[in-house]
Parts: sequence; structure tokens; C-alpha cells
Amino acid sequence: MKPSFTAFGLFAALSLLVSCVGLAGSPSTSNDADVIVVGSGLAGYGAVYGALEKGAKVLLLEKNDKLGGTSLISTGTFSAAGTRLQKSKGIVDSVQSHIDDINRIGHSKADPVLLKRFAEEATAVWEWFVDNGLSPNPSGPVIDPVHSPYSVPRTMTPTKNSANEYVRVLAEQAKAKYGERLTALVKAKVTDLVLEKGKVVGVKVSGPEGEKVYRAKAIILATGGYGSNREMVKKYSPKYAEFRTVTAPWSTGEGIEMAAKAGATLVNMDYIVGYFGGMPKAADHYALGFGDLSSGFAERWTGEIWVDADGKRFVNEDGDDEDPRETAIDGIKDGKILIVFDQGIIDKNGGKTPLRDFDARLAQGYAVKKADSVERLASSFGVDPAGLRMTIDTVSAPSAQGQRDAFGKTTGMAFGSGPYYGVLCYGTIFMTQGGIKVDSRLRAVGADGKPVTGLYAAGESMGTSQWGGRGYAGGTGVAPAVIFGLDAGREAAAFAKSGK
Ligand SMILES: Cc1cc2nc3c(=O)[nH]c(=O)nc-3n(C[C@H](O)[C@H](O)[C@H](O)COP(=O)(O)OP(=O)(O)OC[C@H]3O[C@@H](n4cnc5c(N)ncnc54)[C@H](O)[C@@H]3O)c2cc1C
Repeated sequence: MKPSFTAFGLFAALSLLVSCVGLAGSPSTSNDADVIVVGSGLAGYGAVYGALEKGAKVLLLEKNDKLGGTSLISTGTFSAAGTRLQKSKGIVDSVQSHIDDINRIGHSKADPVLLKRFAEEATAVWEWFVDNGLSPNPSGPVIDPVHSPYSVPRTMTPTKNSANEYVRVLAEQAKAKYGERLTALVKAKVTDLVLEKGKVVGVKVSGPEGEKVYRAKAIILATGGYGSNREMVKKYSPKYAEFRTVTAPWSTGEGIEMAAKAGATLVNMDYIVGYFGGMPKAADHYALGFGDLSSGFAERWTGEIWVDADGKRFVNEDGDDEDPRETAIDGIKDGKILIVFDQGIIDKNGGKTPLRDFDARLAQGYAVKKADSVERLASSFGVDPAGLRMTIDTVSAPSAQGQRDAFGKTTGMAFGSGPYYGVLCYGTIFMTQGGIKVDSRLRAVGADGKPVTGLYAAGESMGTSQWGGRGYAGGTGVAPAVIFGLDAGREAAAFAKSGK
């Protein structure tokens, strides 16, 4: 998605950027701020605003040359129950229903306290954005068509379809109300936390001016996930090493590693919820764009089969709930899937193909291939030819037509005489579920269950599973990042002001 942030990025970088001087070389002993926020995405900007609101002096550190983090590429769906927009359309909803839906989709693996806090705060936070300059897309709320469905429409989007709208509003409000207490630095990469007597009291920063130490009473890690750090994926969740990713290049997880080094516990690092639809352009191609496959959920294209390396199907390809597919990908070796169909199935879909750029991908010859026999197609992708042949014979048998198959699919189609097409596809990371364990006050928690004094985490750095469990409900990346950012900012400011 094209970022809509450029203009604001410039504005923010120019108007909020204040160089911190006089720290190079000599480690300071006095605090440079009450609260240091590391990372300028949704959680970081939420934290900045929450801390400023509570009277803190805040230093925001961002390693990129522009502010905004993943909000620069994220669509910005936001889920909340009981909004004015829902009421205006006669949609009856409740916080409890939101919680129940997330527990259903997340297999009840969320931290109940954090999930409740998110669901309870989401409505007021959404309305605050609307009241402070965010334009909601009037077609919302919707049941997000590309993820496991909620029971009622409760997912909103800014009219601009960009998560950066939330950052824009937070930054404008922060600057207008509390600008004199905020310093924001870009190209300021935090490389480590500073600990004294078991407390986190500062950060080491590497930037154009060299190495510096900045000190504060409280540090908030809003450093995002680790979906673009292949080494971290291999280290914590090797099962997903071959998954592709659509996460931003800066989602490299060093905040999570720093927190662990400082004594914080990490949670759920062993699993990742794989999204369907990652089509590589080459063997080592891990960065992809969303939406390559129009056979995805929103615009269902019927008749194709998905098979594993043995040529066996493993899921109802046409089911209207995303979760069984995401769960099934979890069980496939390397997350590698082959989508198979033939010319007859294309014809039955009105001549459309399941890919937006089918001809170009076919010509490229890596992820999309054509063959005149099932066996040759299977071999070209390293899939068992006999297995694929058997699967196609099974779905094409006259007795199978119009019947419910073993996966509950009733929309299967018989294959004809070809030619046959295959689309290579991988489970795809678009956010990471593991991260820094926090308590109900967003304090990082150590192995003894006690808070690591001075250290807070918010957003994807805490792992989306803490509020969403083992699954993904639409609009629960953006909303909790902002909400827990705000909460962490307020909590950290209160701690800093308490003089403890
Ligand atoms: C393509 C895409 C589309 C998405 N669409 C949606 C959607 O529509 N709805 C939804 O709910 N969720 C969506 N998500 C997920 C959601 O956008 C993210 O989970 C969320 O934005 C993460 O926010 P964050 O503030 O926690 O982290 P980020 O926005 O990733 O911010 C982390 C920031 O920390 C900085 N940083 C990291 N390490 C350091 C360091 N050492 N020193 C200094 N700075 C550092 C990074 O540069 C970055 O700016 C999407 C994700 C992707 C990838």
C-alpha cells in the first residue's frame, strides 16, 4: 500500500525534531526526560501522547529517518464495539461480544486482563480519534472480509485507508497541546538498555553523531515485531523459517531481544499466525505484497485445490472463515502450499484467473507454472506427482460433484484435460504474536513474575497474542497498539512522577 504519510513525515520530522546536545562522550547522570519512548509507530505515538497527557517530559527515539513505523504501510482497520458509527447503522454490539469473538478466533489464548482492557478502551479511543480529526470511512463498520469474521460489523477504517491517520492525529494533538515537553529524534537507533541496581534507567543510542546514552525514569519499548528478522524467526520459531513476510523492513525485533537481556520474560515466541497468499518471486524472495491472489477470501474464486508437498489437500479452500486455513498452514511443512487448477476451472470462473498479474507471473516462471500433465506440473514444483494425481482424481470423480467432501467443501469442481496451472504460495507473516510479557499496567515482567523496574512495552513488541491469542481478528493490530501505547505512556509517566 502506498504510504500517505510523506507530507506529515516531513512535517513531523521538521517540527518535532529537536536535537539533544551535550551528551556525547560523557555519560550523564541526570535524566534527559521523564519517559523515553522507543519507536514511533502507533504504539510509540500512543505512548508519547499518554505520557504527555500525564505531565511527563518525553523523548521519542526512532531509528528510521522518518516517523510512523508500520503505520506507513498498514491499512488501518480498527475494531471497537458500541461506536457511534455502529449505532447510526442500527448495529447492536457490546464489549463482551467483542471479547467473545476474539476468544473464539484466538482460541482463548489471549491474556484475559489485557484483552478485556483493550476491548473496553477501544470505543472511547476510536471516538477520540473521530473527534480530533480522523475521518472514518462512511462504508464502515464492516465484518473484515480478509480475516476470520466477527459476529457483527465492528471494523472501521480511516477514509484514507491508512493507519498513518492515527499517527497524524496523535502527533498533531501532542504538538498542539504539549509540544514544549516533547523531543523527537529520528536516525536514533537504541542498541541497548542501561541498567543500574536492577532498574532500567536509560538507553544506549547509535546515530549520526555517534553513540550516546539517554536517561529517564521510565523506558517504553514500542519497537514493533520481528517479522522481518529471519534470524529471530529461526531462533524462536524455526518451524516458520520459510514463511514469507509482508512486515516492514524495520520490524527486526531488537527491542524484544533488549528486553530479554534486561531480564524481561518473552511470551509465545514459538508461534506465528501465518496468513495465506505469500507468492515468492524467487527462491530467496521473502518480501511480498498483499493481495497477489484474488483467489483470497474477499473475492472468492472457486474450484482450485491447495495441496502440500505430498500432493494432498488439507483444508476447505472455499470456507468463509479464515481461521481454519491459517491453522492448517501451521501444520504444513515450511508453510509451502501449491494451488492447482486447470483451464476448465478458469473457464468456469468466467475466464478470470485467481491472480491479479497472472500472465506476468506465468512468464516469470517461478511461482506460477503451466504444464500439459498433472505429473509434470507436480514435478516442476517438487510436489509428489502420484499424490497430486490421486487428489485430482478424487475431486474429479462424478460421485464427488456437488457433495460435501472430507474438509466440508461443497463447491469442488472436476478437473478436465488441462492444461494445468500451479501457483506456489507460502504462509506469510504480517505481524508477530510473541513478545515482551507485560502485566496489566504494561510493565515488562521478569521470570519471577515481578515488573522489571522502569521498563514498559506496548504494541507488537509485546506480541499480538497477549491481547489476541493464537489467531487474528480484523483490526486488532492497530487498535491495541494505540490503546496499549496510550496506557503504557500514562503508566510510565505516573511512575516517573512518583519519584520511586
Ligand atoms: C502490510 C500490513 C498491513 C497491516 N494492516 C493492518 C490493519 O489494517 N489493521 C490492523 O489492525 N493491523 C494491521 N497490520 C498490523 C499493524 O499495522 C501493526 O501490528 C502495528 O502497526 C504495529 O505498531 P507498533 O507501533 O507496535 O510497531 P511499529 O509500527 O512497527 O513501530 C515500531 C517502530 O519502532 C522502531 N524501532 C524498532 N527498533 C528500534 C530501535 N532499536 N531503536 C529505535 N527505533 C526502533 C521502528 O523503526 C518502528 O518505527 C498490518 C501490518 C502490515 C505489515
